[in-house]
Amino acid sequence: MSISKSRQSPFNIANESGGDRLLQIEAVYDRVPVGLCYLNQDGLIVTINDQLSRLLGVESKIAVGRNIEDIVPLHAPLLRKGLAAAKSGEVIADGEVEIAEESFMVSAAAVMNDLGQFAGISVAYTNITELRRATRKLQETEQRTAYALENAGQWIWDLNIPANQVWRSPQYRILLGLDPNAAEKPSVGWDILHPDDRAHTLQAFDDALSGKNPLFEAIYRVKRPDGGDTWILSRGKIVEYDANGAPLRLLATSVDISMQKRIEEQLSSTVELRLKLEEKLLAANRKLRNLSERDHLTNLPNRRKFAHLLRQAFGQAHDVHKDLAVIMVDIDHFKTYNDFYGHLAGDDCLIHVARSLNKVVKQTSGSLARFGGEEFAALLSGVSKHEVMKTATQMLNSVTAMKIKHEASPSGLVSISLGIAILDENNRAAIAGPDDLLNLADTALYQSKRNGRGRVSLWGAFS
Ligand code: GH3
Ligand code: MG
Ligand code: MG
Repeated sequence: MSISKSRQSPFNIANESGGDRLLQIEAVYDRVPVGLCYLNQDGLIVTINDQLSRLLGVESKIAVGRNIEDIVPLHAPLLRKGLAAAKSGEVIADGEVEIAEESFMVSAAAVMNDLGQFAGISVAYTNITELRRATRKLQETEQRTAYALENAGQWIWDLNIPANQVWRSPQYRILLGLDPNAAEKPSVGWDILHPDDRAHTLQAFDDALSGKNPLFEAIYRVKRPDGGDTWILSRGKIVEYDANGAPLRLLATSVDISMQKRIEEQLSSTVELRLKLEEKLLAANRKLRNLSERDHLTNLPNRRKFAHLLRQAFGQAHDVHKDLAVIMVDIDHFKTYNDFYGHLAGDDCLIHVARSLNKVVKQTSGSLARFGGEEFAALLSGVSKHEVMKTATQMLNSVTAMKIKHEASPSGLVSISLGIAILDENNRAAIAGPDDLLNLADTALYQSKRNGRGRVSLWGAFS
């Protein structure tokens, strides 16, 4: 556009030296990427720059001096409104128009003449298409992000580390059941933490700050308005450092994991309960097994347990060629003891005999069991014949040494008879199983009885 001298300048520069300046300004006026025009108070176009005339598709020489209704009929109401506002000294509101599928912001300012009277308005058409597009895009992105966050039960937070102030995305309020319309004032970063979770959360934060951990991760509770706790899992990262490498910003997401926590707690209490039950069951089982393997009167292992121990020891003795001895013990004339002193005294006698025998057998690391009524059986593994004989003799003597009166017996004291069978290298082939060994010991015991009781007999040592 070229400005004829006859045209009134909107810039009001009229003196001689201002001529060049006017030309310069007019050149700029044409080149700025904004459509500009000046309307007088009647709504006639006084000047129009190249940008706007191109935009409106009208040559400036045609537009100048014409009414806005003729040149921009669609924008005329908006411009008239601006004129009216300017005339009455009001602020002129910006408007928006569409030209060839592009968006423009129309802003206007009042122009006064030298006398300070209202002369017209200068109007600027700024292309805001890109801005609009970018804004829309941003809105769409925000919408998608908001939707994704809300659906995932998450929110974003942004911690200003030096100020220890946090910004949280709106999902924070929605998901935690806080008033979504309440003004979000920046709060101190960690003031929402449950006191019990402060230490480990702040530790995780410190580790992220110091670079010990590349990420911040913590599980903690925050108070809900209803007084309950919400479990939260937060994960974040330092995203900004100052020139000295000190962290400035932590960007993080948080998710409500209360449901998972509840399930976890239920599960662990179920597991705990199960473990406790199992423990109880095992203890009951142990007790039951113990009971089933013990003789309740003497508290010694019973015959069943002895059979089991003997089976085990017999197998081992065979495998590693170890000697194994069984000593069968029977109280002498016990029937008459009962008859003479009574059954309860008989029980008492059994207990005393059991204790003294057990004491001796234990010294050789053997096992003693109550085999039957007034019969006991000892198992000695890996000991020499000499030691077995010695142990049996000690057993015999330990009972006599108690000097339990038995007036109905020839000796006047309670005594026992013993029979020994030893599995060794010489007879290993002949003794096929544990029962054989028992029978041989029993035979030896019978021998003791036959020979007058109160003695020890070793199987094989008699014919
Ligand atoms: P021997 O010298 O030949 O062994 O004679 P004995 O009288 O000891 O033999 P016998 O087998 O005739 O008698 C065993 C007695 O042991 C019979 C029974 O009343 C008694 N007895 C068995 N078990 C118990 C018990 O638990 N308590 C009491 N008090 N007596 C028992
Ligand atoms: Mg007997
Ligand atoms: Mg007897």
